[in-house]
Amino acid sequence: MIALVTGANRGLGRETARQLAGRGHTVLVSARSAADAEEAARELGKDAVPLRLDVTGPDLSGIAAEIEERHGGLDVLVNNAAIHYDTWQRAAEADLAVVREAVETNLYGPWRLIETLLPLLRRSEHPRIVNVSSEAASLTNMGGGTPAYTASKVALNALTRMLAAELRADGVLVNAVCPGWVATDMGGPGGRPVHDGAAGIVWAATLPDDGPTGGFFRDARPLPW
Ligand code: NDP
Repeated sequence: MIALVTGANRGLGRETARQLAGRGHTVLVSARSAADAEEAARELGKDAVPLRLDVTGPDLSGIAAEIEERHGGLDVLVNNAAIHYDTWQRAAEADLAVVREAVETNLYGPWRLIETLLPLLRRSEHPRIVNVSSEAASLTNMGGGTPAYTASKVALNALTRMLAAELRADGVLVNAVCPGWVATDMGGPGGRPVHDGAAGIVWAATLPDDGPTGGFFRDARPLPW
């Protein structure tokens, strides 16, 4: 199995790549800096391959051809990269430039990458897309705060539902996963270990063919939308 993880140079992305490689999968360890991708891939071992990929980059079209040429296909896409957990602002006075930046990376990034890589994924026998989301995006329990981040992840959840419905007949399983509060640069100190947060992402990336699609999960258990 060949998997691509975005933002795999640190935090949950790096640990997700580590766990997938540990299961013997070939992992494209992508990062927006080539040096960061190479450093992470080197540390993760022989099944990890560095790939420079900025999800907001001007042209993603070469990525599919590069992956096909070097690896022959793609089975799993983990949209992990994200920015702007904006605890410093509230919706009532939010800087909309920050909201736009968050949406650019957290929604349009995954969306563009999915559109680019879907031809490869459709050819896989067991295609999976995991959109790393957050319980902050659960409308059921939503309060105020973190407006840029929350709005971008709500939209990512909507994308997850639409794609799951549209791709179900092709066997592409598409799910959103909240890793829980995890001690990374974004999560800050006090969260749970990165290993535990990544395990739920790996679960969704390696679902069996009769596994769920169009769901929102944490630790393999459904979350309310
Ligand atoms: P980090 O801030 O630790 O890491 C973010 C990663 O995304 C980095 O590798 C960063 O790369 C990368 N990235 C940012 N922008 C881009 C871009 N344009 N192109 C490619 N890569 C990019 O975050 P976490 O590991 O904590 O978060 C991972 C995912 O988990 C995110 O989707 C986040 O929303 C989600 N999540 C995290 C929680 C937590 O408590 N940590 C809770 C709920 C959800 P670079 O090093 O170049 O900046």
